Amino acid sequence: MAKLIDGKAFAEGLRGRIAKAVAELKAGQGFTPGLAVVLVGEDPASKVYVANKAKQTVEVGMNSWEYKLPAETPEAEVLALVEKLNADPAVHGILVQLPLPKHIDSTKVLTAISPAKDVDGFHVVNVGKLSTGQDSLVPCTPVGSVMLARDVLGKLDGLEAVVIGRSNIVGKPVAQLLLAENCTVTIAHSRTKDLPAVVRRADLVIAAVGRPEMVKGDWLKPGACVIDVGINRIERDGKGKLVGDCDFASCEKVAGSITPVPGGVGPMTIACLLYNTVKAACAAKGIRQPEM
Ligand code: NAD
Repeated sequence: MAKLIDGKAFAEGLRGRIAKAVAELKAGQGFTPGLAVVLVGEDPASKVYVANKAKQTVEVGMNSWEYKLPAETPEAEVLALVEKLNADPAVHGILVQLPLPKHIDSTKVLTAISPAKDVDGFHVVNVGKLSTGQDSLVPCTPVGSVMLARDVLGKLDGLEAVVIGRSNIVGKPVAQLLLAENCTVTIAHSRTKDLPAVVRRADLVIAAVGRPEMVKGDWLKPGACVIDVGINRIERDGKGKLVGDCDFASCEKVAGSITPVPGGVGPMTIACLLYNTVKAACAAKGIRQPEM
């Protein structure tokens, strides 16, 4: 049976180290890192995420600002708010919750965020820095996924890694991070031929597809590490349930280690957002970031 990778416990530990770093910055440097989150509209999942982000930001001792705008807010107003936050020295991180309502151009809004405050790591400047190996703000879910893989496998040097999914939010940045860790990286996607055969090569599988329980145990190389990024809501036995992109029951019999859903990658995302905010705050102040 595979070892269960406890993302909830890892994220809790990381948040503890972040809280310690924030306390050190307050006491030693006299400033408090701060994160502003912008939510446009009433998407129920987004509302839950934003509330959790704000709660956890305050719990680690940081400043938190929430801007909740009605769904019909004009694009220009969202852009004006981003400009205001860009100019505010107390705000070190800005996150605009996606998806935005259809009348708002997400790329335009994400590009308006100062790259130095782009704690989601979606700005083209940060994407470019990541892909050219420069220090940058890196998207949170990919960072969290690689942290978990490193925690269980140690060095990732030379491993065969297969990333399933090529989105800008997960697949592509996680592949860049694995390349930086010296993995041999394959990116599989919806047009990949014979996906099970590709996945079977992998020592490390990162699944970021959004298809419930797609990856089966007999697709895996025995002993592989499986990081399941997928979060899918399904109905089973008349009840709503969250499942990953991997069929946990069959995969745990073959894998060496595996993240559960929920409780695997999910909790890492907000913890990494807080990490990025401290990183952005220290860079803005021109000081070394404390150990986290
Ligand atoms: P996306 O829809 O943007 O991308 C999905 C990718 O999967 C695409 O690149 C597509 O080519 C690929 N794909 C689709 N069908 C496929 C198939 N049959 N075979 C192989 N590849 C296929 O999704 P995303 O934003 O990258 O998210 C992926 C999953 O991760 C979702 O379930 C999402 O909810 C979850 N997610 C979780 C977190 C978190 O843990 N906090 C964060 C972001 C996304």
